[in-house]
Amino acid sequence: MSFEDLGLSQPVLQALALKEYTKSTPIQEQAIPMLLQGRDLLGIAQTGTGKTAAFMLPSIDRLTLSDKRPQRGTCRMLVLAPTRELASQIAESARAYGRFSHISVATVFGGTSINKNRQDLSRGVDVLVATPGRLLDLIDQRILDLRNVEILVLDEADQMLDLGFIHDLKRIVKVLPVKRQSLFFSATMPKTIKDLADKFLTDPAQVSV
Ligand code: AMP
Repeated sequence: MSFEDLGLSQPVLQALALKEYTKSTPIQEQAIPMLLQGRDLLGIAQTGTGKTAAFMLPSIDRLTLSDKRPQRGTCRMLVLAPTRELASQIAESARAYGRFSHISVATVFGGTSINKNRQDLSRGVDVLVATPGRLLDLIDQRILDLRNVEILVLDEADQMLDLGFIHDLKRIVKVLPVKRQSLFFSATMPKTIKDLADKFLTDPAQVSV
């Protein structure tokens, strides 16, 4: 299916044209219309299926549709990833897909300067991509406040649990607004992941590819 038919905006379509994507992948076709409506989503998908664009494209459109601007020390969309590599890749995709949509993107992960994070967050950002440990450090040091998060994405949830991030995740979710859109992706769905998803999500649409 074409991206036009999925209901995405012109600036996002322009960015996709530059990337030379001609058709949507199955997860994009299933997820994008529901996400544009504001539904929560439980996605069972591996890397390589196009899942980053599946959650980033409709989120960029939802962020730009409202007139809100990020406030100092806050973000509007939070993407949690288990590793620095994945966080960097997601941020790079967000910048490419959002290049005509006037959104700001920042990444925070361990092993980099907290001062640089402080600088990046001082004006507020639209999209923040983070690993859980550094994110909590920034919250504890009052450099970041999550009270304005409109969209939460948890990527590679099974890997997060394997890496021992479960308590960090629960702490993060506690300080998020209750009213938000939440997306949860995992390559596998054992009971611990399903239980976690039930806690995070409200009446989610489910896609599996
Ligand atoms: P992901 O599953 O998000 O890691 O994406 C895997 C790769 O597929 C990335 O290199 C994307 O740039 C690329 N990709 C995502 N969606 C499409 C699409 N609709 N057409 C062509 N390539 C795509």
